[in-house]
Amino acid sequence: MPRSLDAATQQALAARLRFYRDLGLTEFYRRPFDPAQFDHLPESQPEALISPSLNASDTALAEAPELGAPGLAFETWERTSRHQQAPATAPPQTFQETTTILPRTTISAPPQVSNIIAPAEREAALRLIREDIGDCTRCALHKGRNKIVFADGSANARLMFVGEGPGADEDAQGLPFVGRAGQLLNNMIAAMGLKREEVYIANVVKCRPPGNRTPEPEEANTCSPFLFQQIDVIRPEVLVALGATAATYLLGQRQPLAGLRGRVHSLRGSRLIVTYHPAYLLRDPRQKKEAWADLQIAMRELGLKAPGKG
Ligand code: URA
Repeated sequence: MPRSLDAATQQALAARLRFYRDLGLTEFYRRPFDPAQFDHLPESQPEALISPSLNASDTALAEAPELGAPGLAFETWERTSRHQQAPATAPPQTFQETTTILPRTTISAPPQVSNIIAPAEREAALRLIREDIGDCTRCALHKGRNKIVFADGSANARLMFVGEGPGADEDAQGLPFVGRAGQLLNNMIAAMGLKREEVYIANVVKCRPPGNRTPEPEEANTCSPFLFQQIDVIRPEVLVALGATAATYLLGQRQPLAGLRGRVHSLRGSRLIVTYHPAYLLRDPRQKKEAWADLQIAMRELGLKAPGKG
């Protein structure tokens, strides 16, 4: 695989990326998500409203169960949950049925960068996006970060996972999902019969939010264009949104996770499945079974069978 694009393609891609940015990429791609449009929702528990996603706060998961060993099939990581006690706290609240949905018809479809990115050139294209991010100071999150967490995995992945944002371990290592939630994600990937190196993993925001809080809309809307560029380069067959924050910013609308799970959405030429965030599954292992059902939808879309199932 060539390490770099030929000069003409590189120039064309760089020009396209500059063009997107000069246009004000967030406006260009889709309407930035603004929770202020949901004023009628209770303010007292804003986190609960978009839960069950939790930020990458692996360290905050003191009550989390033991993880299955890496590489074990679903039955193993799922079985651990059957022996877990229910968490002391109630499961996160979900939206009211009356939640307003942003009108999708006003969102124009962007041109697909992936049309010009051949598989052999994707790594180099991703490097260009990383270079474009540079030593980013576009939003306030840069102030507290140690490392920008760009992504991990294969540029030619058929399956891509999108999380919320780096936690402490990710911020220290510069890689997504390397803490306890990451270990669970690794086990989920293994249960699907895949290796972590075969998939691609990125987040809505690339810098750690202070205290692992949920990214502010301005932060997510500033950073997510780079995620969309990554998606457009890789053009995975299947995208899995891990938790409500990823689902919200990928789909450009906030909805109860319950209403988004269990079906196949369409996003930028990929099929999108929504499931729980691994950090949430660490807190409420009873939901692993539900998450496995979601992953099985992804597997069906990819034509994969679980290991050991013939
Ligand atoms: N949680 C996330 O959402 N992203 C990470 O990279 C790690 C934990």
